[in-house]
Amino acid sequence: MTESSALEAANTFEELALAPELLSAVLELGYTVPTPIQREAIPLVLAGRDLMAQAQTGTGKTAAFTLPLLHQIKPHANASTSPARHPVRALVLAPTRELAIQVHESVVAYAKNLPLRSTVVYGGVNMKEQEADLRAGVEVLVATPGRLLDHAGNKTTLLNQVQFLVLDEADRMLDMGFLPDLKRILDMLPKNRQTLLFSATFNDEITRLAGSFLKDPLKVEVARKNSATELVEQIVHKVAEDDKIEALLRVLRVRNLSQALVFTRTKLSADKLGRRLQRRGVEVGVIHGDKAQVERILALDGFKQGKVKLLVATDIAARGIDIAELPCVFNFELPYSPEDYVHRIGRTGRAGASGLAVSLVSPEEDKLLAGVERFINKRLEISPLPSVPERPAPVRDAPVPIQAEHTDAADPGVSVPRSRRGREPVCALFLPPVRPAEPDASPAE
Ligand code: AMP
Repeated sequence: MTESSALEAANTFEELALAPELLSAVLELGYTVPTPIQREAIPLVLAGRDLMAQAQTGTGKTAAFTLPLLHQIKPHANASTSPARHPVRALVLAPTRELAIQVHESVVAYAKNLPLRSTVVYGGVNMKEQEADLRAGVEVLVATPGRLLDHAGNKTTLLNQVQFLVLDEADRMLDMGFLPDLKRILDMLPKNRQTLLFSATFNDEITRLAGSFLKDPLKVEVARKNSATELVEQIVHKVAEDDKIEALLRVLRVRNLSQALVFTRTKLSADKLGRRLQRRGVEVGVIHGDKAQVERILALDGFKQGKVKLLVATDIAARGIDIAELPCVFNFELPYSPEDYVHRIGRTGRAGASGLAVSLVSPEEDKLLAGVERFINKRLEISPLPSVPERPAPVRDAPVPIQAEHTDAADPGVSVPRSRRGREPVCALFLPPVRPAEPDASPAE
């Protein structure tokens, strides 16, 4: 495998020599410079190479594959109403509905100045609407594997003109048991195509997958954002299991957090926490694998629009979700896998912003905490719960309604670091790790 250094990485979008329609779209989105994965991957994709790229959500990986694909498909852009003039030329496979939707949103944003059509298909919803889009013809199709096979089986879409295939979060697709589906899909595609594999991690399985699906791929790796553990301010509060809700509400209030993502280990505890927070008057959304697709989308949209203050999520449900400007992540329950901890607290590298991760750790979770510390090779200092100020701190954004807050005068309190005063921390949620399905695992279809 040749290394990507063969081609010089560009420092500006202009240097990447992308079509003007793409440059203007990127500018309108406020991107000023390409991210490392974009700098590395875009020239290689434009050069027609297969790629094995290690990058997680939050690194700008979607643009890293979408921009050069759109650039290459651009000559086929046309305004014809004939479906035959709009065959699927680029296929992006994603493991979860949420990621598929998110990737498609990016495709739409990057392609906004080009007459190229795109759509997204995923399971858990009626096929009819998706069929109409597919029958009309799209150049870019984003799909979860199972639903794509359903449509392909019904001949709603033909994949025999696919020139570009992207396997997004390939490690997760393998984790979720999509290998047989992937093989079936690959069999429907032309042999002569360009294939890009994106994965948060490279392991033997991924390398085998790449060996069978990719042609002489170049390898691109951007620094694993395990640096999340350095960039993110990590706070641990020791709290009895029964006191966690009070602690959560108190931290939100004292730190003036307008929104937070709250992780639980299981679907059951996510539901339970959601109900209890609702009873406390908190606008809360819950996402986990057993929730109907429409509920998950509603909760996520509500959260992204700021209507939902707390989004309670399990690790799998949160996969691939990318929410910018998220003030904070709470570990209401520590995960069983320390890798999940790192993934939960996320990569906050966006615009160099740092983030805040608060773990509420009960005595029963001491072993899990020790596991996390071993994994991140760092001791996490235990802070006492912050004390509630005598007068409520000024609220910059709609606050989480907090009721019946209890105060504990004996609490020594925790001061907010200077670097964090006067601004809200920004965190982003990113990919969970490669590991077998957790208790709430539910495949995309
Ligand atoms: P992704 O890793 O593709 O999910 O992207 C993570 C976030 O970074 C998304 O919100 C993108 O809109 C944003 N993004 C992607 N590329 C850039 C860039 N070059 N500059 C600033 N933001 C970017």
